[in-house]
Amino acid sequence: MPSSRRSLLIAFLTVPLIHAARAKAFAQAGPELPLTLECRDADDLTLEREAGPFFKPNSPHNRELHADALDGERITVAGFVLDRRCRPLAGCLVEIWHADENGEYDSVGLRLRGHQFTDVQGRWWFNTIVPALYPGRTRHFHFKVQRPGGRVLTTQLYFPGEAGNVGDRLFHETLLLDMKETGDGRFGRFDFVV
Ligand code: FE
Repeated sequence: MPSSRRSLLIAFLTVPLIHAARAKAFAQAGPELPLTLECRDADDLTLEREAGPFFKPNSPHNRELHADALDGERITVAGFVLDRRCRPLAGCLVEIWHADENGEYDSVGLRLRGHQFTDVQGRWWFNTIVPALYPGRTRHFHFKVQRPGGRVLTTQLYFPGEAGNVGDRLFHETLLLDMKETGDGRFGRFDFVV
């Protein structure tokens, strides 16, 4: 039975937090559990990328963005916000903005823009659509992430297997979503380190 975005999100939300030292062994013990918390080396802060010209302040407090573009291909993007020692950070601002199914940003209203705060286990997720390509760029989401009282990380996340990744001046492989195809759209996972 093919998985769904919902089943993968539920799996993500029900994975118990595992201490960094155990995460690797756990993942090796259960390759069928791809959504465990993976920790990278200390110092591995998420790379910054420019906001570009389409950021707007005052996005809605909303993680359900797919209704803004009902013809778009559904995707759920989810992950943790972690510190450099792989500890999940609660209460972090996570803001997304991205192009619509025609490759256009809403510069008048607030379509496909939203923010939320990580839950007590440092988790965030958005239900939205796959942004269409627009001239000059590979496919991407824009994000801002800020721990309470901390500096703002501005970055972009990319899609694996995109022909445009290689030639894109802002693309970086450490900013790739871990993507899964499901029966009702895609599920992309990324953990921010701030
Ligand atoms: Fe953009």
